[in-house]
Amino acid sequence: LTAEEQAVLDEIEEQNVDFLRLQFTDILGVVKNVSVPAHQAEKAFTEGIYFDGSSIEGFVRIQESDMRLVPDPDTFAVLPWRNDGDSGAARLICDIVDTDGEPFIGGPRQVLKSVLDDAEEMGYSVSIGPEPEFFLFEKDDEGNATTIPHDNGGYFDLAPKDLASDVRKEIIFTLEEMGFEIEASHHEVAEGQHEINFKYDDALGTADNIATFRAVVRAVAEQHDLHATFMPKPIAEINGSGMHSHISLFDEDGNNAFADDSDEFNLSETAYQFMGGVLNHAEAFTAVTNPTVNSYKRLVPGYEAPIYVAWSDTNRSALVRVPDAAGVSARFEVRSPDPSCNPYLAYAALIAAGLHGIETDADPGDPVQEDIYEFDDEKREEYGIETLPPNLGAAVEELEADEVISGALGPHVSEKFPEAKSQEFSEYLTQVSQWEEDRYLETF
Ligand code: GLU
Ligand code: MG
Ligand code: MG
Repeated sequence: LTAEEQAVLDEIEEQNVDFLRLQFTDILGVVKNVSVPAHQAEKAFTEGIYFDGSSIEGFVRIQESDMRLVPDPDTFAVLPWRNDGDSGAARLICDIVDTDGEPFIGGPRQVLKSVLDDAEEMGYSVSIGPEPEFFLFEKDDEGNATTIPHDNGGYFDLAPKDLASDVRKEIIFTLEEMGFEIEASHHEVAEGQHEINFKYDDALGTADNIATFRAVVRAVAEQHDLHATFMPKPIAEINGSGMHSHISLFDEDGNNAFADDSDEFNLSETAYQFMGGVLNHAEAFTAVTNPTVNSYKRLVPGYEAPIYVAWSDTNRSALVRVPDAAGVSARFEVRSPDPSCNPYLAYAALIAAGLHGIETDADPGDPVQEDIYEFDDEKREEYGIETLPPNLGAAVEELEADEVISGALGPHVSEKFPEAKSQEFSEYLTQVSQWEEDRYLETF
């Protein structure tokens, strides 16, 4: 065992952990767990724990189903809501090893790791700070989720209007117990909508954190008989939930490679090239950062979600916004991702787009200072502003046509992901919605 692995065994002993949840995500971003008694920890580290990969969405075919989970000791965390001091559960996030003992290239965590290896070869580590938004809804008498908001607060409102602030506080305390550094939290624009920001980390740590974050938010909400949802647009005509992601690169000396104090926006040439890559590949990575049918109900004008492939320092209708920050904090915010994405794949795609921008000296063009929601088609054309794909079907086509993004997802995910998503979209197209019924049933 490595020193880190031994430290985990010691913690297990000290904290009376009896069960370990070995956690990983399938390609659709759903967190899966295999629970093992804590005394299996040593075996998990040395040999891995076998599981049937064929029963996991998008993994492998039946005949090659034996895969192993190998826990990353860095990710050990006791689950505070499952711990009473005498006994408890902890989780470990796992990498997936295939039958040949090689890292499974179809595992989302592996996909991100290999893009981060590319970054490292270019001399960079990647930092990402996420801003996940979510709704807290009431449950009905049968315990099913509704879309009735838990409170009627608004942006940055405080108690007593913000009844959910107690729940939010408890979510934050739980996250802190699990080692999160919470930077800020607030009530978002819509009723029942919240945002909690945690400190940036390297991209892999942040993706792990997002997976954990979603589990914690759901578990704490559940304890209060509420339903937490990361569905991007749960209620029509009301702000949806995004997961803005603040990105910067650090060089081998630990300096922010995106910083240049002499620039108007405090950004370096490298930052602009990376941003250029993000804008060039935005249509292609949207299927990954916005992977549900519902994601595209959020990407419409008027609700602070982006639709236009442009950048700005002020305005929230653009895909990329440059916050007022400099030096070590110089960065930009990509506003399109939503919290239904698989964070590993989403960040793999985003980073690959940006790195390609650096390699090809991509140019993001000039910032757009005006509200692009107000532009007509002609003006958008004049400014050369593209729009994001209008729906999941179109997004999948863009993804399949982009070799940089498909390449970053690797041979397995770039085949399985579009396949699953096309199927999801076709299924949606055959449905008859409430809107259609309301509009046509009595008209025709
Ligand atoms: N909820 C908005 C979105 O869908 C973002 C609001 C904000 O700027 O934080 O992206
Ligand atoms: Mg927000
Ligand atoms: Mg933001």
